[in-house]
Amino acid sequence: MSPVPRAPAHRPIQILSPEVSNQIAAGEVIERPASVVKELVENSIDAGASQVRVEVVGAGKELIRVVDDGCGIEPEEAPLAFERHATSKIRAASDLASVRTLGFRGEALPSIASVARVTLVTRPRERELGARVEASAQGVRTAPAGAPFGTQVEVRDLFHNTPARFKFLKSDASERRAIAELLANMALAHPEVSFRLSMEGKEILRTPGDGRLKEAIAAVYGRRAAGELVAVEWESPWARISGYVGKPSLAKGNRGAESIFVNGRWVQNRLLFTAVEKGFESLLAHRRFPLAVLHLEIDPVLVDVNVHPAKTEVRFKDEREVFKAVMRAVRSALTGAEDRKSTRLNSSHLGI
Ligand code: ADP
Ligand code: MG
Repeated sequence: MSPVPRAPAHRPIQILSPEVSNQIAAGEVIERPASVVKELVENSIDAGASQVRVEVVGAGKELIRVVDDGCGIEPEEAPLAFERHATSKIRAASDLASVRTLGFRGEALPSIASVARVTLVTRPRERELGARVEASAQGVRTAPAGAPFGTQVEVRDLFHNTPARFKFLKSDASERRAIAELLANMALAHPEVSFRLSMEGKEILRTPGDGRLKEAIAAVYGRRAAGELVAVEWESPWARISGYVGKPSLAKGNRGAESIFVNGRWVQNRLLFTAVEKGFESLLAHRRFPLAVLHLEIDPVLVDVNVHPAKTEVRFKDEREVFKAVMRAVRSALTGAEDRKSTRLNSSHLGI
């Protein structure tokens, strides 16, 4: 038998159309409604908003609306926001080492528009007239429009043109849970911003945005929890760790109440979770997990944020040092609290 020829038929190399390449990018960045919410809210925060309102209908598949009072977009530039690799946040590759904004890839809006129908209305405070941009896989249309200052983005019919993606979504309840968890973490990351989340017409979360982390925690976990917190404050030449851990009485059966932020970015990193738990030592029973809201400020040069655009991953130059720092920060906060309690006890015994 002669061997079957294996060489494929020749097909010319071609550059993909923007429509196709945007959908491929969307496949990586936009997995579910919560990813849309994440990208839009991050844009609002990057725009310096002090108030961010999020409304969700149909678990985010029908409508996601995010309204902010941030800097807005110059009307002439508004359609550019939907071009791939168009960003106002970095200019040169050298900027990557020190990015402080949450976004910088210029991929979110074009990706979202390739799998949904997007309407963006925006106006900078000092401009009289703003712009309204309608964007979808079909293209981008812009017109001048009156608008309150700030930016409003509406995303309708998510994944209407990518049925495979649509089919893989989880139940409405679980998509809503993902959005609520995301917003809670956004709020804990940014106590200076007032967040409101409503889903199916019901308000789920409202934070005061007064800059106090404890108030944001109270909004997310309730007043009672906020009364059972121990402050964490720790500093070294290369890092600062601050926030709160809950007393052991607030411990949970999973890690859902452990929120860690690295330079303002929510990260889910096993190493950091373990460090927090190790900080509790024997204070927690087996398979009990603490409430913890910790902010790590680390020299950006020691952190690689360029890991994945959508995932909550992080890489450190020196993992061991970070681990030790987090563990010590938590441990010293807890032992400090114990010490203070026992001194108080002692002094009351002595009748002082
Ligand atoms: P990136 O955030 O990576 O720059 P995006 O596609 O998310 O990319 O947004 C593109 C650009 O649109 C941003 O760089 C920013 O200039 C502008 N933009 C998007 N959303 C807002 C917003 N809510 N307020 C002000 N500007 C915005
Ligand atoms: Mg962005």
